[in-house]
Amino acid sequence: MLQKNLLHWYDRNKRDLPWRHTGDPYSIFVSEMMLQQTQVKTVIPYYERFLKELPDWKALAKAKEEKVLKLWEGLGYYRRARNLQAAAQKILADHQGLLPDSMEEILEIPGVGPYSAGAVLSIAFQKPHPVVDGNVIRVFSRLFLLRGNLKTGEGHKKVWELAENLISRQRPGDFNQAVMELGATVCLPENPQCLLCPLLSGCLAAQKGLQGELPEMPKATPVLEVPMAALYLEQKGRVLVKKRAQNERWLKGMWEFPSAEGKTYEEALQKLETHLRVKAHRKELNEVKHQITHHKIRLKLFGGITPKSLRVSKDLKWVPLKKLRDLPFASAQNKLREWVLQKSS
Ligand code: SF4
Repeated sequence: MLQKNLLHWYDRNKRDLPWRHTGDPYSIFVSEMMLQQTQVKTVIPYYERFLKELPDWKALAKAKEEKVLKLWEGLGYYRRARNLQAAAQKILADHQGLLPDSMEEILEIPGVGPYSAGAVLSIAFQKPHPVVDGNVIRVFSRLFLLRGNLKTGEGHKKVWELAENLISRQRPGDFNQAVMELGATVCLPENPQCLLCPLLSGCLAAQKGLQGELPEMPKATPVLEVPMAALYLEQKGRVLVKKRAQNERWLKGMWEFPSAEGKTYEEALQKLETHLRVKAHRKELNEVKHQITHHKIRLKLFGGITPKSLRVSKDLKWVPLKKLRDLPFASAQNKLREWVLQKSS
């Protein structure tokens, strides 16, 4: 009954989204990678541009990493973009350019975990594998009155078991999407729209008026402040930028005004001065804030004195200001870039 009501509701109410018009495993895979931790309306233009530029596994596998990151610029969690390209390369090398349709094999593809495996196998191949994300947790916690932490450990396992038992064998992809759609549009975190819900008659939380209390959240990880300094060096209309190395903890492969973290801004600046062999001014030009997971980054931009012979290594280059937007910059550094471009226009 639950499946029937939910699928009936989904058929009439699902949002018209571009990846719902295709059965192509590549397009579905791309959409699932983009949708992780990102809202649907943010993803749509990225998805369309990405598929236009890189329409299949081969194009993605052979593209320059910089092009993939540029197409991802602003979407955040850039590891997804690098994994997506690594996935395409593996699919080309090991699977004759076809996405595998078994759980065992798909879990070996870079960036694929239990959630994306279930989503892709059910939506692209109609295999009855469930999915559990934040929306599914919220809907099930209310429907079955599940208390405690459902995001990890035993509670999380319980939600997976329920999803496994409930999934429609005839329409697994639609069933998974229907639960997530219900969570995204009706069973909202605040003010769930129970009177519009196709599952109201069987919902234990709604019967007891407990919707607002569920799901119970695990204790949030404390937020850590991270002081970060970036350096703006200009020379004859060109500006110094740096590609973040593969051993950085965040934003590998993205470009930026050279930056460093420290316990203090002074420490961060000293690191930059030593690394680049330049002298930085101590008065900041601008400051932007950004959060990555539980790290609150306060990024300050400082000017500096450009020495006559600054050593430019492989990861550093001078770029004409008008070409600065050609490079992939992540969120906080992008704000600084826009500020610099506006100032110099
Ligand atoms: S009845 Fe309300 S609380 Fe229950 S699943 Fe539907 S929207 Fe969520």
